[in-house]
Amino acid sequence: MAASCIFCKIIKGDIPSMKIFESEKVLAFLDINPLSSGHALVIPKHHGAKLTDIPDDQLSELLPVAARIARAAGADQYNILQNNGKMAHQVVDHVHFHYIPKPNEQEGLG
Ligand code: 5GP
Ligand code: ZN
Repeated sequence: MAASCIFCKIIKGDIPSMKIFESEKVLAFLDINPLSSGHALVIPKHHGAKLTDIPDDQLSELLPVAARIARAAGADQYNILQNNGKMAHQVVDHVHFHYIPKPNEQEGLG
C-alpha cells in the first residue's frame, strides 16, 4: 500500500468505486472518466507503479480477470491497454489494465 496512491485508497475502501470483481490479489472497477460505456480498470492489490514492479503471482491474475469481464459483458470488440510511465500516458502510478469496450457495429451506426 502507498499512502498517497488513489488506487490503494480504492482498494482500502477509503475512496468509493464501482467494483465489478474482487479477489485476494485483484480488484476491478469502473473507470471514473470512461472512454466508452463499461470502461473498467483491473489492478493488482500489491502497490507498484509499473508492470516491472509487480511480483509474478500478482500479475498472473490480471489478464484472466480482464478476459472474464469481456466474456461476462459479451464484448466482441474491445481494447486492453496498460501504460507505463508519463511518456506512455500513465497518469495513476499504480499498475492497471484498461478494459475498453467498443460499441458494436449496429450501435455505432445508430
Ligand atoms: P492511465 O492514464 O494512468 O493509464 O489511466 C488512469 C485511469 O484512472 C484514467 O482512465 C482515469 O479516468 C482513472 N481514474 C483516475 N482516478 C480515478 C478514481 O478516483 N476512480 C476511478 N474509478 N478511476 C480513476
Ligand atoms: Zn497503489
